[in-house]
Amino acid sequence: MMIIKNVRILGGEPVAIRIADGVIAEVAPGMDAPEAIDGGGTIALPGLVDLHTHLREPGREDAETVLTGTQSAARGGYTAVHAMANTSPVADTAGVVEQVWRLGREHALCDVHPVGAVTVGLEGRQLAELGAMADSAARVRVFSDDGKCVDDAVLMRRALEYVKAFDGVVAQHAQEPRLTSGAQMNEGVVSGRLGLTGWPAVAEEAIIARDCLLAAHVGSRLHVCHVSTAGSVEIIRWAKSKGWNVTAEVTPHHLLLADDLVEESPVGSYNPIYKVNPPLRTRADVEALRAALADGTIDIVATDHAPHPVEDKETEWSAAAMGMVGLETALSVVQEAMVETGLLDWAGVARRMSALPARIGRLSGQGRPLEAGEPANIMLYDPSARTKVDPSAFASKSRNTPYEGMTLPGRVVATFLRGRPTVLEGKLV
Ligand SMILES: [Zn+2]
Repeated sequence: MMIIKNVRILGGEPVAIRIADGVIAEVAPGMDAPEAIDGGGTIALPGLVDLHTHLREPGREDAETVLTGTQSAARGGYTAVHAMANTSPVADTAGVVEQVWRLGREHALCDVHPVGAVTVGLEGRQLAELGAMADSAARVRVFSDDGKCVDDAVLMRRALEYVKAFDGVVAQHAQEPRLTSGAQMNEGVVSGRLGLTGWPAVAEEAIIARDCLLAAHVGSRLHVCHVSTAGSVEIIRWAKSKGWNVTAEVTPHHLLLADDLVEESPVGSYNPIYKVNPPLRTRADVEALRAALADGTIDIVATDHAPHPVEDKETEWSAAAMGMVGLETALSVVQEAMVETGLLDWAGVARRMSALPARIGRLSGQGRPLEAGEPANIMLYDPSARTKVDPSAFASKSRNTPYEGMTLPGRVVATFLRGRPTVLEGKLV
């Protein structure tokens, strides 16, 4: 039995949460015990759920491992992550997804739900063993070739048809490969001035439009990864207005950062810390993404936590790897972009960073309200704190954050996975 006292669920009045056997037994004001954990008036949210994390194991343990990635997740307030399939070997068989799932269980820092590859080796030629991965111990429900786009319309149609049998979802990295061959940054006035090969918005939007039509045609579920343009938002809004089963995510960085940073930023110009896939877009796109997340057109925030070792990032722009770490700064960035701007309250944040990602991933014990009888997956957050981002303090093995030195609002104080603390006073337990 454990009591967490003096917390404000979704920012409400102070209450205490009594936990027994990993389950919330009671929520009430005034409960206390000599050994109670004092929340200090922090906000309690359901443990965050990430639908899009790169844990890099197996194959790139120099960038991240399941251990360091889930430590990073716990420090960010997450109690579940979906681990993307672009590992080495690729997570395209029951064997690989079970390996990743088991490592997550052993470390027990947050639940790890492997994403299965859509095509063998992410090569876009032949469907992977979707059914075997769904039936495996990892019970895969989300399938994605993320990092690559399933650009073959026939394969995408077959994948959408196949996952219906087990209520799965295909999460598409929408990037028309021919339109983005050699692309380095968003195609626009900045790429023109800098002389970098542009990445047109239409390369994302064309695939999203096609996939929405395909999902409607076969009556399946489509999830759109990391939406980055205003035009993509319009297409998703249209698909939803038709009643089609389409969901979408936006990353924290696309809610805060824009392509002007490639030209001029506190860390200079052409700094590959801003190189990411999809690329940072324009300030107008950022505004459209914020509005879409607020009105529900974009369902969720997903980190696209993409760790890379220093040598892959600190090189010239054209040679640098694409991606940013994100688990440990996600909620602070969302607070800055969405809460401080008045676009979302804490209930809205919990819905978009916990309840809905759990629903899309078909997780039963995550993203639940903080009520009696529910699993005690809880994070405590102090929105009044101001934290200067120090990558050397990250639990992640990688340091490629665009926020280094920036002061962001908020601090994750504690995280509880089925009642067991994984983080207390901001530190891993
Ligand atoms: Zn991606």
